[in-house]
Amino acid sequence: MTQKTMHTSDFRPLDVQAIRGDFPIFSDTPPLAFLDSAASTQTPRPVVEAMDAYYDTYRSNIHRGIYRISEEATEQHENARKKLAHLINAPRTSQIVFTRNTTESINLVAYSWGSINISQGDEIVLTDLEHHSNLVPWQMLAQRTGATLRYLEITDQGLLDFTQLQDLLSEKTKLVAITHVSNVLGTINPIQSVIDAAHAAGAKVLIDAAQSVPHFHVDVQQLDCDFLAFSGHKMCGPTGVGVLYGKLDLLEEMPPFLGGGSMIRSVERDISTYADVPAKFEAGTPSIAEAIGLGAAADYITQAGLASIHVHEQELIKYAHDRLQDIEGITIYGPAPHQKAGVISFNIDGIHPHDVAGILDTHNIAIRAGHHCAQPLMKKLDVIATARASFYLYNTLEDVDRLYEALQKAQALMIRRKQ
Ligand code: PMP
Repeated sequence: MTQKTMHTSDFRPLDVQAIRGDFPIFSDTPPLAFLDSAASTQTPRPVVEAMDAYYDTYRSNIHRGIYRISEEATEQHENARKKLAHLINAPRTSQIVFTRNTTESINLVAYSWGSINISQGDEIVLTDLEHHSNLVPWQMLAQRTGATLRYLEITDQGLLDFTQLQDLLSEKTKLVAITHVSNVLGTINPIQSVIDAAHAAGAKVLIDAAQSVPHFHVDVQQLDCDFLAFSGHKMCGPTGVGVLYGKLDLLEEMPPFLGGGSMIRSVERDISTYADVPAKFEAGTPSIAEAIGLGAAADYITQAGLASIHVHEQELIKYAHDRLQDIEGITIYGPAPHQKAGVISFNIDGIHPHDVAGILDTHNIAIRAGHHCAQPLMKKLDVIATARASFYLYNTLEDVDRLYEALQKAQALMIRRKQ
C-alpha cells in the first residue's frame, strides 16, 4: 500500500477477544480456525441483527410504498449507501451503486462504459494478478469490440514489473483494470503509481478492491480512480450485495446495464427515459436486507479501525511466514510479508493442496485450495493449484500455530501413507 492510502489516525490495537465474541461461529471448543476470509468472511452479530430488524420490524419494498415501514426501509437502505460512501470517501452518496458483488460491478462497467468507450484497436491493460472477475468481462468486451488485452507481468517475487508499464501505455490504452490486492499472493499493488501513469496516458482506471476495502483504508478521492469495485461478503457483510463506485461524470454518461423497474423516469410503449444515478443502474427490487447489513458491516469495520485491522493482519502474516517457512519442502508464493496483505499461498512437496485442505479440515481448520479463480496466474507460477490461508480481524496467533502444527501432521501422515 502506498503511504497515501494508509491512514494511521484510527490506530489502536484490536481487542481480538472482544471481536471474536461478536462471532458466534467461534464459540465452540476448540474453536474453528477460520483461515479463508479472502473467499468470504464471517458475520458478526451487529450485521445479522441489522438484517433481522429489517425482517422482523419493517420488511417492505423500498422507494415505492407510501406507508411507514416502506419509508423506513427506504431510509435504512439509503443510510447504508451513505455509510459505504463514507467508508471509501466517495464525494457523493449517489456514486455508490449497489450490485450483487465485485463481479457484477466489473461486468457493469465492461458492458455499460465499454459499450460507449471501447472499439476496434483500443487496448485494455490488465495484470498477471487478476481474478477471473477482472479478466473475463474484459475478454468478453474485447471479443465484442475488437479491442486488445495487454498484460503487466509480475516479477519472480510476485510484484508487478513496473519497468513494463510505460511500454504498455499508449494513446490506444483506454482502460487499466487492476486488482489492489492479489487474492492469491496477497501482493499489495502500488496502485497510486498505476493510476497516475494511466491518467497521464489518457486512460481510465478501474480498481478491483475486493481484497483491499475490507482490510485497510481506501480513499477514492485521494487515489483519483475512475471506478472501484468490492463485495460485501468479504468485509463482514452478507452475501448478495456489492458496490460499484464511479466518478459522477462517467456514471452519468453511461447507458443502463439492466432495464426494468426502479431505473426509469418515464416509460412509453417504444421508449423510456432513465432515472439519475445510482437508480439508473439498480433495476428491479434490490437486495434490501443485504444492503442494510452491509451498512452495518461498514460501521463494524470502521469502529474496529481499518488501520488497526491492517496492523493486526501484518502481525499475523509475518508470524505465518516465520512459522511456515520452517516446514520442509514448503514453497511460499508471493512477496515478503511487508509487501502483502493477510494472504499466504503455499505448496508442500508431495502433497496435493486439496489433500492439505482436507486434512486441515479434520483439525477444524478451514483454508482454501485450488486455482483461486486465477488460472493465468497459476500458469505463471507453474502450478495447478495452491493452498491458501487468509486472515481477518478475528484471527489470532494461535490460529497460525494450529495451522503450522496441523501442516506438520499432514506431512507426517502423507509420508506414512506413501511408505
Ligand atoms: N476480485 C478479487 C481480487 C477477489 O478476491 C474476488 C473474490 N475471490 C473477486 C474479485 C470476486 O468477488 P465476488 O465473487 O464477490 O464477485
